[in-house]
Amino acid sequence: MICPECGAMDCQTRFDEFLVLEFTDAGYGTVHHLTVATYMIQHSSKLTREGWLYERELLKEFLVNNKSPKFVHKQNRDLVDGSKRKFKIASRDGVPVINKTAWSKTIRDVRAENADAYCEDVSAWAKVVLDEAETILI
Ligand SMILES: [Zn+2]
Repeated sequence: MICPECGAMDCQTRFDEFLVLEFTDAGYGTVHHLTVATYMIQHSSKLTREGWLYERELLKEFLVNNKSPKFVHKQNRDLVDGSKRKFKIASRDGVPVINKTAWSKTIRDVRAENADAYCEDVSAWAKVVLDEAETILI
């Protein structure tokens, strides 16, 4: 089926397949942080408003400020530690918090035949999504 949020065919299946690849092959795993944040930003029904803004900020830290996932994790330790975090990330009602449904790139634009192509395409997808997400006011 066509996803109502990102506009791609069977994106959830693709996402699940990619996570398996990333967890079983370190070459693919290097972009795991980008895959998750980018997919979440395009699927705001999985997030609260604060969660969506948090994911967008996370992606910006990775792509614009060139922070490593390890560094960002440390920096946000208090924030991402569930017991201390002041807001919920996961949506309870499943209602999208943004109304954007057309994106220049989706998870379908990512080639998975080898790790180099995969990392290159995930990065390109993440950059486009961050650019487009930064124009959204919520
Ligand atoms: Zn989708």
